Amino acid sequence: MKLSFDEMVVKIKEKTGLSDEQILNRIHKKSEELVGLVSKEGAAHIIANELGVDLLQDMHGACLIKDIKDIAAGMRSVDVVGKVQAIYEVREFQSQKGSGKVGSFLLADKTGVIRTTCWNAKTDDLKRVNVGDVVAVKNVYARENNGRVEIHVNDRSGLEVNPEGVIVELPVSPNPQGFQSASSLAVRKRLADITSDDLFVEVVGTVVQVFDPHFFEICPQCNKRARPRQETFACDEHGTVAPAYSCVLNLVLDDGSDNIRAVFFREQAAVVLGKSVDDLMLTRASRDALDALKGELMGQMLKVSAKVSKNHMFNRLELVARTVVRDPDPDEELRFLQERKQASQITPSQM
Ligand SMILES: [Zn+2]
Repeated sequence: MKLSFDEMVVKIKEKTGLSDEQILNRIHKKSEELVGLVSKEGAAHIIANELGVDLLQDMHGACLIKDIKDIAAGMRSVDVVGKVQAIYEVREFQSQKGSGKVGSFLLADKTGVIRTTCWNAKTDDLKRVNVGDVVAVKNVYARENNGRVEIHVNDRSGLEVNPEGVIVELPVSPNPQGFQSASSLAVRKRLADITSDDLFVEVVGTVVQVFDPHFFEICPQCNKRARPRQETFACDEHGTVAPAYSCVLNLVLDDGSDNIRAVFFREQAAVVLGKSVDDLMLTRASRDALDALKGELMGQMLKVSAKVSKNHMFNRLELVARTVVRDPDPDEELRFLQERKQASQITPSQM
């Protein structure tokens, strides 16, 4: 994605009609102004920006740099340049192939925002990234996850932080006034800020630990627990029944501030595992299918609206999910982060 110095001068000349001498003079002056801070290529980038010449824009044809809105699932060898809007912590996970690491961030350009997931060794690069940094990722692949496209950075990909002279302009942030949290009852919280006084909260976190789902028999008429009785099962109210099944799934969510155990029953467990309720109940007898589902869940982001519950035995707070969204919409998360940032910038005297 790099242009040589001479190519940059040619581009600036084409777009502005200035002479070589005028352009080189400006670059020379800029280099002297910023002595020791930029290379001559960096100075040429700055001059191009001052003159309104978008060097990157012109490279879209020749290179693989894509506007985020144009990235489609299945694309390989994609290059993207954007500004980092949010970073989610790197997590280690265990799978059948051994241990691995995954972390992600939201990358925005003037056309959109996309979740960018780094795997294994590439998570080391993430440690150097801050919100607001310009990041260029190269040779990444795009795939769909629950109806949304995301890009994945692996060992064959490049990740460059604040490449010299590259400026990313974002559209003015959308007015957050109309934006509301998914559940009006639930207050959006960081995990570290949840207290036993909270009744309902909404959190966004990454799955860092998954326990075996537990299946149990229920009465198909009232959905209450059905207990074994002789050869079959019985409900207190409806007597002997051919049982249906329910499921409870425990996992640990982490949002970078803290982690918490979250409990998901039947419908919510199915959403979390990306299955219909019926399909989930069919997997109950298959150890392999359950292990595969658990493996896919590690590193997933979940947005959970939950009741806060005190576990007295372990003296800790837990979440009991009421609704859950797997892979929350990056656009919506972005609006939420902007809303919170703006809210935190209001001083008490303005309130
Ligand atoms: Zn019953």
